[in-house]
Amino acid sequence: MNRKLRVRQAQTVLPFGVGAVFDIQGESFVATGIGDWPRIRQAVASPRLAARLGVSGFFAAPATLNDRFDRADAPGAPYIRFPAWLFCGSCRRMVRWRIADEKPGEPPSCPSCSPKRRLSPMRFVQICAAGHLGDVDWWFWAHARLDAARRHSCSSREQLRFRVSERATGLEALSVSCVAPGCGARRDLLDILGTHGMRCSGRNPWQRVSEAVDCAKPVQVVQRTAGNLYYPVVHSALSLPEADLPAAGGEELVGRVRDSDYWVPLCKATGTPRAEILREMIKEDTGADDVLLDALLSEETGTGTPAHPTSGVPAASAAGTDLRREEWAALTAAEPPVTRDFSVRGSGLGLDGETTEPWAGLHRRMGRVVLADRLREVRALSGFSRVSPDAAIVPADTSRRLRWLPAVEVLGEGILLTLDPAALTAWERQDAVRSRVAGLRADLDRSFQSDRLQMLTGPALAPRFVLLHTLGHLLVRQLSFESGYTTASLRERVYARPEHDQYGILVYTAAGDAEGTLGGLVQQGEPPRLAETLLRMAEAAAWCSADPLCSEHTGQGFGNLNRAACHACALLPETSCETGNTLLDRALIVGGSGVPGFFEPIVAAARAAAAQE
Ligand SMILES: [Zn+2]
Ligand SMILES: [Zn+2]
Ligand SMILES: [Zn+2]
Ligand SMILES: [Zn+2]
Ligand SMILES: [Zn+2]
Repeated sequence: MNRKLRVRQAQTVLPFGVGAVFDIQGESFVATGIGDWPRIRQAVASPRLAARLGVSGFFAAPATLNDRFDRADAPGAPYIRFPAWLFCGSCRRMVRWRIADEKPGEPPSCPSCSPKRRLSPMRFVQICAAGHLGDVDWWFWAHARLDAARRHSCSSREQLRFRVSERATGLEALSVSCVAPGCGARRDLLDILGTHGMRCSGRNPWQRVSEAVDCAKPVQVVQRTAGNLYYPVVHSALSLPEADLPAAGGEELVGRVRDSDYWVPLCKATGTPRAEILREMIKEDTGADDVLLDALLSEETGTGTPAHPTSGVPAASAAGTDLRREEWAALTAAEPPVTRDFSVRGSGLGLDGETTEPWAGLHRRMGRVVLADRLREVRALSGFSRVSPDAAIVPADTSRRLRWLPAVEVLGEGILLTLDPAALTAWERQDAVRSRVAGLRADLDRSFQSDRLQMLTGPALAPRFVLLHTLGHLLVRQLSFESGYTTASLRERVYARPEHDQYGILVYTAAGDAEGTLGGLVQQGEPPRLAETLLRMAEAAAWCSADPLCSEHTGQGFGNLNRAACHACALLPETSCETGNTLLDRALIVGGSGVPGFFEPIVAAARAAAAQE
């Protein structure tokens, strides 16, 4: 029974990045902090993003056939078993599994049963708003309702059974009982979910007990697959020509230092007399100087580090650069330079000179189409929160010493749709449009997510942002319907800040690794196919299976930040959407509730044309 457990490299940032709990082949693990990452790892270059986030750089865990789930020295991203409490489906015995119990290549098995029975992870864990995660104290749960004297008389903390009753259903059917001689404590799990008087462990499972803090936050028991267990903070940048060229020779030299046979020994020997000797040997072999070695050592070992990313969201003024402005400028440049990581070309819908509706109307409303044959995106994880997205951020390095962040590069292709700026401005000026979006803006201002979302929307949510964002969602859904892309394999980037003269939406592949480039997405963007796709998309957008409810909504979704948009018509997988599936409204596309939709006349013309045929 030699099992292989593997997480794809692209998934080591999202969805299985630091702090995430996930199931794989019936076992459950948590991704550890980057302090536990292997020393041999791949540098991921993105100087723009590094400057923006104020970090020294990025690394990816090397892709391996078998990640470091149970071996201390394997090269992949490290994961440890969590929850530690497991149970046997046959004899119902509960076992608290320790790292020393792990046998490489083998899932945990029940110590009592023969033949071997696999142990399953308990379904419930506890979290707090400081970002901590821990096992439920099952002994305490089973004994909590006994008086103190009886509780103290229990002779064992590990004689627990996890039972299922056939006489009840749901959580009431589950119970934890103590079979220590003379005890007999038992409690069902009916009210397990929620806040109890249990204490927070003050740490995450991979942190040592000595790293725990005194945490007074109330502990919440949740299912380990619950949505509020983990909110990753991910940053992303496209690689652009010029700006992303590494300093001449710099990357290569850094690579030579890290590849040196003396590098790992030097990292371990820091502060000892041996370090000087190793240092001299590396300098001689690679040509690196002391300044570079100091910088790399401090990055590696966390010594003498002045700054580290503590908050998930960089201040709006951080490093003075707006990555999105640079991306928009590069994507829409008249003659964009071509590099290994960036190749785009202008295209259109193929509707020039078209006079029949609905095509002429579509032509008037759409601007240039830009086809991106090659894009490289770097995604970095700065930390995560639990309980709610605005709770305290736990940094990717829980020891707060390292200055780098875990990241992956994703290679892919994309389609940038732009709207006709004049048509867009005219539509945006209408009172009905403005007042519709003003209501949404008021909800956004009240939302605890406003800081994060305003990084994307700009300080004042404009109608074009909601219009283009919704258009992106509908296009992804239409493309998946027509050409077999799964919605999860496509992502969006919204460029829609009027103060920056932006009016586009980029849809791109996001599979990651070598699987990223399929070549097919750009093909979908070539004329005449794209125009036909857009028309069918607009027609489909006019109707939702949850109508009339969906269309008439004055606030649905997370924090009431959607209007006419629901799972049946406009939402995408979490990983595809920049805004967490908020700020969507089909009415701005197809009209309704007194709002003129940007594409409404086209939908009407398409229907009229169909009726004449
Ligand atoms: Zn058993
Ligand atoms: Zn007991
Ligand atoms: Zn806590
Ligand atoms: Zn809907
Ligand atoms: Zn979205």
